[in-house]
Amino acid sequence: KPYQPWIDKYPEGIDFFAEIDTTPVPERVDKAVKEHATRVAMDFLGAETTYAEMGDQIERMAGALQKELGLKKGNRVALLLPNTPFFPVIYYAALKIGATIVNCNPLYTHSELMHILKNSNPDILVTTDLKLTLEKAEKLMQEGVAKKLLVSHFPNALPGIKKVLFKIFKAKDLAKLSDEKVKANYLDWQALLDNNLQADPVKIDKDDMAVLQFTGGTTGTPKAAVLTHGNIAANLSQIDLWGVDLFRPGATLAAVIPFFHIFAMTVCMNTPLTSGVKVAMLPRYERKSLLEMIHRTKATILPAVPTLSHALATAPERNKYDLSSLKIGISGGAALPNETKQAFAKATGGRIAEGYGLTETSPVLCCAPLYAPNKDNSIGMPLPGTDIQFVDVEDPTKFVGPGERGELVAKGPQVMPGYLDNDDANKESFIDGYFRTGDVGYVDEDGHLYIVDRIKDIIICSGFNVYPRAIEDALYHHDEVDECNVIGVEDEYRGEAPIAFVKRVEGSNLGEEELREHLKKYLSKIEMPREIIFKSELPKTLVGKLSKNDLREEYAKLKKS
Ligand code: AMP
Repeated sequence: KPYQPWIDKYPEGIDFFAEIDTTPVPERVDKAVKEHATRVAMDFLGAETTYAEMGDQIERMAGALQKELGLKKGNRVALLLPNTPFFPVIYYAALKIGATIVNCNPLYTHSELMHILKNSNPDILVTTDLKLTLEKAEKLMQEGVAKKLLVSHFPNALPGIKKVLFKIFKAKDLAKLSDEKVKANYLDWQALLDNNLQADPVKIDKDDMAVLQFTGGTTGTPKAAVLTHGNIAANLSQIDLWGVDLFRPGATLAAVIPFFHIFAMTVCMNTPLTSGVKVAMLPRYERKSLLEMIHRTKATILPAVPTLSHALATAPERNKYDLSSLKIGISGGAALPNETKQAFAKATGGRIAEGYGLTETSPVLCCAPLYAPNKDNSIGMPLPGTDIQFVDVEDPTKFVGPGERGELVAKGPQVMPGYLDNDDANKESFIDGYFRTGDVGYVDEDGHLYIVDRIKDIIICSGFNVYPRAIEDALYHHDEVDECNVIGVEDEYRGEAPIAFVKRVEGSNLGEEELREHLKKYLSKIEMPREIIFKSELPKTLVGKLSKNDLREEYAKLKKS
């Protein structure tokens, strides 16, 4: 019988066994459009779109995809788009006609994008006429990895545009596009909408593929997680059950993390836009623009990765802005340091709820209780209908004893059926119907869950397991540490040894000796970093998580030279 201590300790008023509604997203959007027609759905740098207007654009785009382009159920639509109102429109239009979305990060390199498109074989590539995206899209079309190119016009007349650091592509017209192949297959967004076509209804089943979400790019070749309509819808319902009335009309969500990432796709786009919430979006993270947007829109919810919440809460200019509207920060994607949680509370008066999840789980598995105190460092409890267990790291066929550390495995309606065309990865990733997350954690007797670290980041020093996260936590306890990241490297004597990278807070002269003295209070000798390297910036992944892989590469280069 699975060990599920949270069941008896679940937050009052929330039912772990509640039925999970898997009504597909397009149906939910239709309903929200009707119910909240006159409310603002999207705020893009001050330009507002109501739910009715959004619904109308979705309808016309769905009609064009179906009737003009001949797209059918099962066709694939790749998106190469930053956060703009175009994103939800094309995303919901494509899902409505039964097509599958392939999300691409506009900051990926050409070869990363080639890998994704070759493996997903989209029928159409959708982008916007920013230099950043259109140049990449043109090159991809020349390579023949998508059959058609649909381009929206980035509204350069908006007041905030200059501030968000994007260059508008100069060659806006078709005439200026260089390649004949591209020209012949180029479609204009507005022209498609102007045709006023309506889509014929398509029946969507919960097992139909909704999204192909590539993951693992920084740790090898990205694999495509297949997320079904049922998976995505289930997570929305689970979040709604957990959040009680957080996502309701009247709330404004600041969408600064990118929609093409699973965290934002679910938490910043699908959840609010199926609930009558206003989504204020920023096409690219920039501290000042975010502060301004929160101030201007009186945003109440801010989903973010920890580095972003930290940067916001400690921004030197934060007092010039009113951040008191922020009630809830939703943290995800990486471990949230306590210091960040506190800084956020101090800067805004709100609080951060930490969630945990993965691309493969659509993404949310656990979350801190939103209306009851959480335990320090805990990722909270499993969302309704989610079974979390821990298995032996060496032998995943065995469950570990109650409270013992092990690899976190998960079962639930939000867990993907598998990776696309990848039997090896699927065999490795599932055990007895549980998805293996690759994270080490444990559950306490009150049903609170903890993540200790990723298995692949554990450093084995003289036969002992050293967890980089423990060293990072100790570093964060020092007031003058702004960001830090710890990796394991080969060591002649100990097999492996930890190396710490530290970014000091602005103006700090913190030295190695002082920091080592501080660490002694928290760490055993074996956990002490072999080297502490101070840097003015720490590398981050494309969603803003601190990146260990970049540091490993950097360190290897440093040692070679
Ligand atoms: P991705 O699918 O690339 O977004 O990354 C998922 C991974 O992020 C997980 O396997 C964890 O290692 C990490 N992660 C996400 N949320 C948390 C959290 N709250 N605490 C610690 N690690 C997290």
